[in-house]
Amino acid sequence: MRDLSILPAAGAPLPEPFEGRHLIDGSWRPSADGRTLDRLSPAHGALVSRSALGGEAEAEAAIRAARAAFDDGRWSARPGRERAAILLRVADLIERDHERMALWETLESGKPITQARGEVKRAADLWRFAAGLARGIVGETHNALGPDMLGAVLKEPVGVVSIITPWNFPFWILSQKLPFALAAGCTCVVKPSEMTPTTTVMLGALLLEAGLPEGVVNIVLGEGRPVGEVLAAHPAVDMVSFTGSTAVGKGIVRAAAGTLKKVALELGGKNPQAVFPDADLEAAADAVTFGVYFNVGQCCNSGSRVLVHRAIAEEFTARVVDLSRHVRFGDPLDPRTQVGALVSEAHGRKIHGHVQAALADGATLRLGGGPLEVPGLPGPFYQPTVVEGVRPDMALAREEVFGPVLSVLAFDTLEEAIALANDASYGLSAGVWSENVHTCLAFARGVRAGTIWTNTWMDGFPEMTFGGYRESGQGREIGRQGLEEFLETKTVAMRLGRTWPRWVETAP
Ligand code: NAD
Repeated sequence: MRDLSILPAAGAPLPEPFEGRHLIDGSWRPSADGRTLDRLSPAHGALVSRSALGGEAEAEAAIRAARAAFDDGRWSARPGRERAAILLRVADLIERDHERMALWETLESGKPITQARGEVKRAADLWRFAAGLARGIVGETHNALGPDMLGAVLKEPVGVVSIITPWNFPFWILSQKLPFALAAGCTCVVKPSEMTPTTTVMLGALLLEAGLPEGVVNIVLGEGRPVGEVLAAHPAVDMVSFTGSTAVGKGIVRAAAGTLKKVALELGGKNPQAVFPDADLEAAADAVTFGVYFNVGQCCNSGSRVLVHRAIAEEFTARVVDLSRHVRFGDPLDPRTQVGALVSEAHGRKIHGHVQAALADGATLRLGGGPLEVPGLPGPFYQPTVVEGVRPDMALAREEVFGPVLSVLAFDTLEEAIALANDASYGLSAGVWSENVHTCLAFARGVRAGTIWTNTWMDGFPEMTFGGYRESGQGREIGRQGLEEFLETKTVAMRLGRTWPRWVETAP
């Protein structure tokens, strides 16, 4: 561990814990039974928020409020330009408050403060982009159905949407969903992860300040059971938009099946980057290092598998190991920190179990492989870890480890690289590094994943949609499709003049 870059406790004072309540029908409420849930900063071990712990009663009340707000048209009947004006105001307020929001995002999740600031600020752009879409909700008209017919295909809001989010990018993921649902005219019940509820609550206050009518967005704090389950199954909910683990996502589909409500899922990934000998190896090694350690690997887009051409496998792995030693792990409150704490001790044990199982199965450790000590902080932290000799059948090559652990696999041909990339139950994202455009395009077209990066990693834009193939999810977020997810389609066939061809013969 001595040759890693570790930043010790920065000694920054922690703020008073944030007190979070539910937002139901425009008012801030404690739980009916008075229960609360404490969140300790994973890095610092200190209390940073105490949130109301909701149950079925709060979930029911929030769904009722959202249903009433949708059905009376207080939001869905507002012209797109008015909805857009409010979303734009929210974006300004997010920018105004981004320092405070980023601080709690860091304290609850363990992510570096510089990264949290970037995520909150960039999320404002998602709100602005969605505001633009609110003014362009268009369907089709049909003018070639014959002289006595005119057809219109209308786009309408789906209705009441349950939004359930995870702990790894609490505010960013919420902003991939909520402004698009609001742009469409939907009303919502939001349940953040019980580990990272505060920035969602802070956003609730900004929504009211921006002038969003009461009841349009409701927030229920609490755990998957029972709150998430009620939001997924309730007959008064028209759609569930979920981001989280594939296992829980499958449960959401089963829960939603009772009423056949619409389901959108953003789930896990086991995302490969393929590196060819003609690539800019310096850039590729840097991107692979970034891809695996960003957010301590607790990222659906984690580049947790690198596929390296056998001719350069040794040289490339050595480069990544060397760069790994320079990545600054440590106190999330130190602005120089690049990689912070894991979300929980239990998650750290899970990551370690994956690494040990791979080693027992014949893989070899090139770097790391255990918990990381950060002077002055209780943790949990995990060492940057590179495992080579990983076979495609090993769990480490197939399962989402969700930690700073890179699996290195070798290939000989383009076809083999594509086959290896596709040899997974997931299909969220993939990357290719080569100076040959034909290699890049063949890989991009051959790999079954929702996003392909060529000579880059994790570039994203509000304009370009995001989502997964296979067990990485269904539906799409952001971009134009991010709005379409929250729209229903209605066909209106209009007969012109009195041309109805009589069906009943009344003449004798
Ligand atoms: P998780 O599935 O444990 O929890 C996600 C949310 O679902 C939380 O709010 C949780 O309280 C809730 N939940 C738990 N059980 C539930 C149930 N039975 N019914 C309804 N809701 C329930 O996931 P997590 O551990 O918070 O997040 C990590 C996972 O999220 C990883 O698998 C990661 O890949 C995935 N993720 C995917 C994307 C993407 O866009 N594809 C983005 C970020 C994270």
